[in-house]
Amino acid sequence: MARRTQVCRNCRRFTTEQACPVCKSTNLSTSWKGLVVIVSIESEVAKMLKVNEPGRYALYVG
Ligand SMILES: [Zn+2]
Repeated sequence: MARRTQVCRNCRRFTTEQACPVCKSTNLSTSWKGLVVIVSIESEVAKMLKVNEPGRYALYVG
């Protein structure tokens, strides 16, 4: 069975688990657009997305 890439609706972090690795939310979505890789939390993109940990995030979550 293939794992579907899911995105946390709470913080938009990508996860292949049943819960978000960052905020432990189980409110996940398979409907998302745009992949952003946050390398530095000091970057403008990280501030725009309000993330506080490097990783992969989605721009839009359905
Ligand atoms: Zn989350």
